[in-house]
Amino acid sequence: MKTLESAEKLKIIKNKQEIINSLEKDEIYYKKDFLVNYDTTYLSLASLLQGAYPINDKSKRYKTRKNFYPHFLLDQKKDNNFFKILRKTKKNFFYLGNSNAPCQKNIYVNCLRDNKSEKLFSMVNLFYIDSIFIYAFNYIPYKYYNPYEAINFINMPKNVFKKNEIYFLHVLNPHPPYFLNKNCNFKKKLTKTKNQQEEIQNYTYAYNCLIKMTQKFMKKISEIDNDNLVFVMGDHGWSFSEETMKKSNLTDNKFKTYFTYKAPSRCSQLIPPNSIVNVLRFALNCNGSNKINYLEDLQFKTFYEGHENYGKVFLKN
Ligand SMILES: [Zn+2]
Repeated sequence: MKTLESAEKLKIIKNKQEIINSLEKDEIYYKKDFLVNYDTTYLSLASLLQGAYPINDKSKRYKTRKNFYPHFLLDQKKDNNFFKILRKTKKNFFYLGNSNAPCQKNIYVNCLRDNKSEKLFSMVNLFYIDSIFIYAFNYIPYKYYNPYEAINFINMPKNVFKKNEIYFLHVLNPHPPYFLNKNCNFKKKLTKTKNQQEEIQNYTYAYNCLIKMTQKFMKKISEIDNDNLVFVMGDHGWSFSEETMKKSNLTDNKFKTYFTYKAPSRCSQLIPPNSIVNVLRFALNCNGSNKINYLEDLQFKTFYEGHENYGKVFLKN
């Protein structure tokens, strides 16, 4: 998701300061220049949940994303930092996955959505992207479905929230295929377009809708219990065509993202995180008396399957 700064430059939003002011009225804080540690979803979300760098430029080249998001959540037998945190804090974890990153219930993970065909799709997809075929076809058959449920959850969080719970919603929005219209209602037909102007228009609807919807959501969650802590953030930035981005003087778009949080007042003394890897550390510090140090805000260039550099990690300077 784009930062407000980049969205304003591209005229996706009218006025960044208006949005910030409106959020602040609800005691929601927007952090400018919030950094992404990895520019790929599977690593960025692994770093968010694990509160650590799952891999760095000194690691061995990997051949599969099995140890990263969402696969590290699916296998309770393979321990990882996130499971350790859940054990230690005794928190219950609820996850709203999607077709790209489905949920599988285990002793650590509760699913807010359970869909067997998605799991099958994801397994077949992983087999394909791990294979040589991806290099032959260079095509990723991404089918993103779930967004309706995610949006419904944001608009109407039906669950009764209890103490000591963590909810993680992977909303896949704003993101193609675009399905929200100008008035933030579901369109009858999903839009997938190669036309740049049309894409920006659709992104604009989704972006503005999401900001409004999540603002209400954050307010509601803290009304339920003002001890609740809510983050709304992108896993990485977003880029349109090179030409479009150059025209607006926007570079490195994937390495900064939208980040807002609403925290109980007792946490107002804490320094907010600068990058994704430190979000969970902030949350744990806000939640308890332990003082967990922030990690250095590093950034790594990474790749998806089908790219010649897939499995390599470069430190960004
Ligand atoms: Zn992503």
